[in-house]
Amino acid sequence: MSARVRMSELSWVEVERRLARDAIVIVPVGSLEQHGHHLPLGVDTFLATAIAERGALRIAALVAPVIPYGYKSQPRTGGGDHFPGTTGLDGATLTGIVRDVVRELARHGAKRIAIVDGHYENEMFLTEGVDLAIRELRRDGLDDTRVVKLRYFEDVPEETIRLLWPDNYPGMALEHAALMETSMMLHVAPELVDLAIAPDEPSALFPGYDVYPPDRSLVPPSGALSSPGRATAQFGEHLVETFVDAVTTALTRGLA
Ligand SMILES: [Zn+2]
Repeated sequence: MSARVRMSELSWVEVERRLARDAIVIVPVGSLEQHGHHLPLGVDTFLATAIAERGALRIAALVAPVIPYGYKSQPRTGGGDHFPGTTGLDGATLTGIVRDVVRELARHGAKRIAIVDGHYENEMFLTEGVDLAIRELRRDGLDDTRVVKLRYFEDVPEETIRLLWPDNYPGMALEHAALMETSMMLHVAPELVDLAIAPDEPSALFPGYDVYPPDRSLVPPSGALSSPGRATAQFGEHLVETFVDAVTTALTRGLA
C-alpha cells in the first residue's frame, strides 16, 4: 500500500480501493485563532493535521483535508475573538460543514470515520454535525456508518503531566499557546515559532463563569493563557507521540 494518506493527493480509484478495504477516514478540525506573539494563527490546524497524518500512517487510514476554521474563540479557553486574525464560524456553519463532510464520505463507502479535533471550542458543534449526518444517512438507508470523535488532547497521561509540569499543571483550558502547544509546534513546524518573543507571565485567572460581551481585561495582553517559557522540541516530540498513541488506540478500539 502506498504510504500516501492524504485524500487530496490520491485519485478516486485509489480512494475507492482503500475504502473497499474498510480504511478509517480521519477528518482533522482546527481553527484560525490567536496563539500569542510567538505562534501562528493556525496552530490548532497544524497540530490536529500532524497527529491525524502520523496516526494514519500507523493504521493505514486516510486523512481528509482539514477543516481550517473553528467555532469562536472564548476568553477562558482561547483568549477571545478580539485578537486580529482570529476568525470564527457560527456554530450552525461549523455543524453544517461537519454534517456534509461525514455524509459525503459515507455516501462513497466510508464506514469508519474519525473526527480529530484540535480546538477547544469546537466540541459540541462537531458532535451536532456528526449526529445530523448519521440521522440523514439512516433516512437514506445507510445505517452502517460509525464515527469516533475526539479531541487529540483529551487524555494527558499522569507521567506526561509530571514530566512537563512538575510543579503546577494549569489544566488543559489554560494550556492555550503555552507549554504544550508551543512544544508541539517546535517539533512539528519549528520555523513558525519565535521563542525569543514568547511571553513569560503567570497563568491567567478567570472566574468560573462567562460574561458577554467578554471582559478583555481578564485576558493576558499577549493572548497566551499560561507561560510557554520551558517549551522544547523534545517535550513536543514526547507529546506528539503520546497523542498519536492515544488517538490510534481510540480509533482502533472505537471503530473495531
Ligand atoms: Zn490551540
